[in-house]
Amino acid sequence: MRILVLPGDGIGPEITAATLEVLHGVSARFGLDLELIEDVVGHASLARHGATVREELLSKAADSAGIILGPTATFEFKDAARGEINPSMYFRKRLDLFANIRPSRTYPNLPSPIGDFDLVIARENTEGFYADRNMAEGNAEILVTPEVAISLRRITRAASDRIARAAFELAMTRRKRVTIVHKANVLKVTDGLFIDSCQRIAADYPDVTVDAELIDAMVAHIVRKPSRFDVILTTNMYGDILSDLTAELAGSLGLGASVNHGIDHGMAQASHGSAPDIAGKDIANPFSLILSTGLLLGWLGLKHASTPLMAAAKAIDIAVEGAVAEGETTRDIGGTFGTADVGRRLARRISATVPA
Ligand code: NAD
Repeated sequence: MRILVLPGDGIGPEITAATLEVLHGVSARFGLDLELIEDVVGHASLARHGATVREELLSKAADSAGIILGPTATFEFKDAARGEINPSMYFRKRLDLFANIRPSRTYPNLPSPIGDFDLVIARENTEGFYADRNMAEGNAEILVTPEVAISLRRITRAASDRIARAAFELAMTRRKRVTIVHKANVLKVTDGLFIDSCQRIAADYPDVTVDAELIDAMVAHIVRKPSRFDVILTTNMYGDILSDLTAELAGSLGLGASVNHGIDHGMAQASHGSAPDIAGKDIANPFSLILSTGLLLGWLGLKHASTPLMAAAKAIDIAVEGAVAEGETTRDIGGTFGTADVGRRLARRISATVPA
């Protein structure tokens, strides 16, 4: 099974190296026989190939069972004509990775000021406020005059239906509760369509309790009582913003994990950015990308009905929980270890303590 590894910018190479330690560890432990191939995106690709991502890489990604994408310096990529393309958008759009699944939970020994919680954000990934993926051609952000700019938001029934189904399927494996998050008091037509799609899909899942919250109130509800929530189903931008909040409430953005998937392809990706403020210092928390890789293995395990892949995914979760409990972490969550050391120790923990 081939996995394409793309380290990215800023802290990307550091957290990817730690992730690879762990991936080699679980591959050996569970006999996964993974073939890891590395390539470049972001600034490294711009320097080497004249573009932050390239068509050839898309074929490599499509031919791989899964992708691990490190964070990239997307804010610096302004001009697609000069090869400055957002790699995250590129893979999500071109491989139709419509679901972005972002779990957040608290850990024993890492107390949260707002109490324990365990929730998952199911975020639509291919349209919404993201103008760079809304059009068949061109970009949905338009400079009408030098002083007037417009950004178009696309919401479709098809995209809403499929993220809703992914969210309800997920809820069936958890506490069977879905909260739809929207802003239909203002965006009556677009978010109205999103809610209508979600409620129609909900009819297929009578065992799941469904409620809905406005995005602004939702922020308060999460901070007030996050344990209320199980699966949060929402559009692209709201999901992006809420998931930074939930990761940080769990302890750190460095715990923000996610998997992007469609029908055929899956991509592990931390939910944070390239963190230039801490890049190159060996202090970035690699758990975000390591846990994302665990989610990818779990998704592949379900897709291929593979017990070893499922066991590897679980082993990563258990090992991270153990590392947090014993303080083998980076300093953002109270530890004293460097990024590389945390990866090495986690790989050892998996080989030594997790039953196969
Ligand atoms: P960021 O998410 O990179 O960082 C926000 C804060 O969280 C910073 O203080 C950072 O040090 C901290 N942080 C992030 N990841 C951490 C980790 N693993 N361990 C410990 N601390 C961590 O947001 P930003 O600074 O606004 O963005 C930096 C760049 O990343 C920008 O170019 C932005 O466009 C890009 N970005 C990329 C992605 C992506 O590739 N998926 C996502 C978001 C932002």
